[in-house]
Amino acid sequence: MDDQIKKLSQHDMSDDCPVCRAQDVVAMALIPATAAWEMANELPRFSLALQGAASLLGAMLEDGIDRGDIEKAIGDLLDDIEAEIKEDQVMGGPPQGSA
Ligand SMILES: [Zn+2]
Repeated sequence: MDDQIKKLSQHDMSDDCPVCRAQDVVAMALIPATAAWEMANELPRFSLALQGAASLLGAMLEDGIDRGDIEKAIGDLLDDIEAEIKEDQVMGGPPQGSA
């Protein structure tokens, strides 16, 4: 995998880890804003999330970053996120909607 992509997707364990900082911005600003835009524009839930993510990745492609590297990085990140969700569910009781 390209070194640049590696740096953008793997924690460097510093207090100032760019991965953690980017994830904080996404959680605090992008996720709520995307959900609000979908509602305000009467778009189906996750439509902007999916199109936004694809378009942002498209900008990386346009910049010449290898598609395989991007797909690998996204796959790794989704694996991490899925593991975190499972952990949170174990800690916070049954998943929503399962009752
Ligand atoms: Zn980190």
